[in-house]
Amino acid sequence: MTLTQKIRSKLRREAVHLYRDIRHGLNMDTGFYTNARGSRILIYHGICLKDNTRFNPIFLTLKTFEQHLIYYKKYFNVVSLDDYYAQRFHPDKFNICLTFDDGFANNHKYVLPLLEKYNVPATFFITGIRQAGYDILWNDFLGIVSKYGPKEIAYKNEKFVLGAYNKYESHTSGVRLVDTLRASGFVEKADVMKLLYPLTPFKSNQHDRDYWLQLTENQIKELSASPYATIGAHGYYHNDLAKISLPGSIREMQESKTFLENLIQKPVTSLAFPYGSYTLEVVDAALQIGYTQLLAMDFLFAQDAANPAMRERLTVNPFISPNNQMYATINRRYEE
Ligand SMILES: [Zn+2]
Repeated sequence: MTLTQKIRSKLRREAVHLYRDIRHGLNMDTGFYTNARGSRILIYHGICLKDNTRFNPIFLTLKTFEQHLIYYKKYFNVVSLDDYYAQRFHPDKFNICLTFDDGFANNHKYVLPLLEKYNVPATFFITGIRQAGYDILWNDFLGIVSKYGPKEIAYKNEKFVLGAYNKYESHTSGVRLVDTLRASGFVEKADVMKLLYPLTPFKSNQHDRDYWLQLTENQIKELSASPYATIGAHGYYHNDLAKISLPGSIREMQESKTFLENLIQKPVTSLAFPYGSYTLEVVDAALQIGYTQLLAMDFLFAQDAANPAMRERLTVNPFISPNNQMYATINRRYEE
């Protein structure tokens, strides 16, 4: 796409969003919501009080999230993941299922009280990173370090320099460190974290903890004790299950299940693939391990739609108004 085309499409997108917001303000779109039928699983991640895209472009503010819930209560029917799979839907409403990935402590702090306030169920997909001894996911760590840390770092005899979008890129090949690490096992990721810890004082800033701190084991237990929350697995180290070895993926899926089940004393039968990434072998292995609900983003293979365990999900977009989000949720697409 040329720059002119990009600008045109951005302007068109903004005009469409504005038009909808005006119609919404004038109560002209109520029919669209009340006439909508169907169902959608949504992916949320972290919730924070302000500056939601400061470190992680998929966070939402608490205020926006509450606006979403108000929409759901007004126009839609919110179902649990089990009800979604069993298709226990409201016949005369659009049905929504809420999921939260990555196991942020802010889910316990901000989301749980709102689920209770609005009587809405949600599923939380959590890794085993706490058991592994970390309080932050490697990808969040790298994202935050690249904001606060040095302009260049050396890792494995290679120089990485901050490039576009504030990401470390190899000085020689231009390959991003985040992509190199995504394709490697956790040992390499832990190595980089060890290397960068002393260079980044961000952890001492209490106010920033909402952006990265992982749920403690106690908080996971408290979530699980709520009638509104279901716990699912999200891999052990948040590795990309399609990129690491198959035995490594199997271990990730097994160990995260065991960790969570021992902790909450309930069966954990749902798994959300980190990054929505999987292979057919990973899917088979997940079923053998005992997962009966496998959550993707977009399906990656032709046979996925026929697999009774698999469902697609739509990631919530933090850059648009709640009204435009509800449109996209119903249509299952964002404006190009
Ligand atoms: Zn994730």
